[in-house]
Formats: sequence, structure tokens, C-alpha cells
Amino acid sequence: MHTLLDIQNIHKAFGGNVVLQGASLNVMPGEIVGLLGPNGSGKSTLLNVASGFARSDSGEVRFQGEDISRLPAHRIVQHGMARTFQLPSMPSRMSVLEVTLAADTRLHGVWSTLLRPRAVREAEAEALQQANQLLDALLLTPVKHLAASAISGGQKKLLSIACALMARPKLLMLDEPTAGVHPNLRRDIVQTLQRLRGQGISQLIVEHDMHFVREVCTRCVVLDRGQIVADCKPEELSSHPQVIEAYLGR
Ligand code: ADP
Ligand code: MG
Repeated sequence: MHTLLDIQNIHKAFGGNVVLQGASLNVMPGEIVGLLGPNGSGKSTLLNVASGFARSDSGEVRFQGEDISRLPAHRIVQHGMARTFQLPSMPSRMSVLEVTLAADTRLHGVWSTLLRPRAVREAEAEALQQANQLLDALLLTPVKHLAASAISGGQKKLLSIACALMARPKLLMLDEPTAGVHPNLRRDIVQTLQRLRGQGISQLIVEHDMHFVREVCTRCVVLDRGQIVADCKPEELSSHPQVIEAYLGR
């Protein structure tokens, strides 16, 4: 089986602050990989590098064998890799449904609107259907006409998953999908991610909650001071010496 995402030897510094020091990890098709590590260890930065929101100083990111290290974020989405952010911010003037529709990369481009109006109308109808289905699956139908900024923090996390899924990704990267989320919604997010895995969507998830990690992840990697120090099954984490060192050893 071919590696879906292959992150090799990433280095990244912000000024004098060295954040990633040769971080490597991979995701195979069908996996849900948990990316763990203490605050400030570089998890979000690694997701930013992999998804094209930050440039690494050196190292390589391959998706389905193709080097995507130098591609901008919107091109990476088109390759089949979509992500959510740790703190999703939502526009106040757009409804939940509009925000979901705006995430569809097929609808962008004024030239196609001018040159191929019928194709654009068809794509719009398809996108509307897909958006409604996703909002339904993510339990957001009751709030779909509300301003996206007015829904709860947990619902914003679900909405950002819906937006990422509009790109029909093969790999979904999630940055702390349940942090600060009400326990009821947390259950919904867990079930959603498991269902997506059943539909063949692999995942790389930054998460601190150990219950979540044990329930959802098929494998875990642990980042400490910019390097991967453990790669193991969720149940092996609590007895892994480098993991204990990463969380307690300083
Ligand atoms: P984590 O997600 O593991 O908590 P981050 O990747 O957010 O860690 O941050 C790791 C380090 O990188 C922190 O010291 C943070 O201040 C720094 N950092 C992250 N993004 C930036 C940025 N855009 N500019 C400057 N420093 C940054
Ligand atoms: Mg983070």
C-alpha cells in the first residue's frame, strides 16, 4: 500500500525560535493518526507546513507520492488534503450554509463563470446539494441559516469539518477538534470522524484528550521540542518512556 502523506525531516524556525527540528511522520490510507505533544511542541506548525499555510526551511512533504512542499494551500486542497484550524473564526455576515458553499474550490474563478455559465450553474447546484448533505450529517441543519459567527464553539468546529469536506479530501487534518467542546457535541464529533474513516477518509488529528485518542486514533505520534519521539498504538502511550519524558520530564 502506498503512503498517503509522507512528511520528511521538516525544519522550521521563526526568527531565532527553532520550532521543528527534523520532524518526520507518515499517514497510510485508512489510518487515523493522532499527533500529540506538549503545548508549544510544534504540532500546529507541522500541520501548517503540511497544508501549505507555512513554508518549511527544509524538508519535504509528499502526498500520494507527489512533492507538494512548495505548493500553495489552495492547490494542496485540490490534491485531496483538507484541514481545519485550532480556533475556527467565522465571518459574521455569512450564514452557516453560505460559509459551507464558499469552501467549494470548484466554484471559484470569474473566468469560468463568464465562459462556461451552464457548467458553473450545474456545479453550483451540485455544491448546494453536497453542502446540505454535509450540514445534515454534522447536525447543523437546524442552524444553517444563522450567522456562522453566532453558533456555539463546538458547532463552529463541526462547521469547519463540513467546509473541509466540501473539497472531498482523501486526508483530513484536524487541529484540536474537541478542545472546549461540550461533551454532547464531542460525542457527535467522535462518531463523525469514525464514520468518515469508514468512508475511506484518512485523518491526521492534533488532540490532547486521551479518551478521544484511545477511541478514535489507530496510531499515535508524539512531538517533543520539534522532533517525533514516539510512534505507537494509543494503548502504548502511557508506558512509553519518551512520552512520559515529553510530558513530565522537564
Ligand atoms: P503547538 O500547536 O504544539 O502548541 P505551535 O506549532 O502552535 O505549537 O507553536 C510552536 C512554537 O512556534 C511556539 O513557540 C510558537 O510561539 C511558535 N510559532 C508558531 N507559529 C508562529 C508564527 N506564525 N510566528 C512566530 N512564531 C510562531
Ligand atoms: Mg496547536
